Amino acid sequence: MALKTVTADRIWAADGGGIYHKGFVQYEGDTIATIGNQADLPTVDAPGQNIALGDVTLMPGLINCHCHLTLSSGPNLLQDYFGMSDELFMALAIKHAKEALTAGVTTLRDCGTKNNIVFSVRKAQEMGLIESPRIWASGACLTSTGGHCYFFGVEVDGETEIKQAVRAQVKAGADFIKVMATGGGITPGTNPRREQFSQEEMVTLVNDAHRLNKRVSAHCHGTPGVLNATMARVDTIEHCSFMVEEAPGIKYEPEIVAQIAERGIYVVPTTSVGYRMLERVLRGEIARTPQYEGFIANQQTRMENIGRLVTQGVRIASGSDAGVGGTYFNDFALDVELLVTTAAGFTPEAALYTATATAADALGRKDLGVLAPGKKADMIAVRGNPTEDIHALRKIEMVMLGGKKYVG
Ligand SMILES: [Zn+2]
Repeated sequence: MALKTVTADRIWAADGGGIYHKGFVQYEGDTIATIGNQADLPTVDAPGQNIALGDVTLMPGLINCHCHLTLSSGPNLLQDYFGMSDELFMALAIKHAKEALTAGVTTLRDCGTKNNIVFSVRKAQEMGLIESPRIWASGACLTSTGGHCYFFGVEVDGETEIKQAVRAQVKAGADFIKVMATGGGITPGTNPRREQFSQEEMVTLVNDAHRLNKRVSAHCHGTPGVLNATMARVDTIEHCSFMVEEAPGIKYEPEIVAQIAERGIYVVPTTSVGYRMLERVLRGEIARTPQYEGFIANQQTRMENIGRLVTQGVRIASGSDAGVGGTYFNDFALDVELLVTTAAGFTPEAALYTATATAADALGRKDLGVLAPGKKADMIAVRGNPTEDIHALRKIEMVMLGGKKYVG
């Protein structure tokens, strides 16, 4: 297979080396072979094998760690969902996947979509039938009876049912196990502030998933759920809102966070959901219901808490919860931007890591997230320099996935 070369004025490889000026990346098939300085490039060029990008920053493709391919992003999420056939779900999922890829997302972790739909999208991507990021999918989530997202979940109560469901999901092809450790805003009749499973149940779930070499991602708003997930040693905590019943609805728990850090658990704070939700409330598009209150009233506190998590040594991976109301598949950049522009207080470069190298680590995908020999040739080029101006992430000039160019 021929060696191909991409050159760019700036390369940010997510390898700890900052920006390389006048760099190149060579790849063969879907894998990166070399990365280096243009001055060291051999002078004999094979015609048609080179992409000279010029004044852009070449960087790893983005990894969106939290999406739901068959949720509509619309204001009437459940109405949309319950009106859909599987054929329509498939069409919607394919549309969303393409939107994500076009916006620079080369890997999309789906945190809850019916098995038959999401595993088929994954297969279609692998077969080259559709334009889609790589899909890393849990399939159906595990939830309690009537619990959060039961409509694309497996409803389980008690340790025996939990074990059965973990095994069934792995058998069906799950890349990881998703569990709803607390209730959630979009599911009426659940309580986001309270746990859905006991600590013993969470331990059983995580142990069985780990036995089968699968990671566990836990949706956690309420503090009791965060605690149970942490003690059970899940791999990623989604949202990590520290919601409580008492006003003002959020209470940061430094001692639990110390445990999250010590156990090496990643947090995926899904910052843009609350931001977009607040926008829509202020525009009068959605009602301010108690279910949403934790997200809305406490935006500032949530962003401050992400900064505190980092200070305590917790690694952050970005995920947008695309599919949830007002959160679109082509808007992942917002999640990364908010880390920089709010009280979370990230530098642009630190924010970029949450959507590249650290995100790949959170998924356990050692072949993704960094531009280095042996990694997948998943690259994007953006106008400007995102390590100085995070908004450059929206100025996509090229998207390449596994050595194949989709944009640019
Ligand atoms: Zn979600």
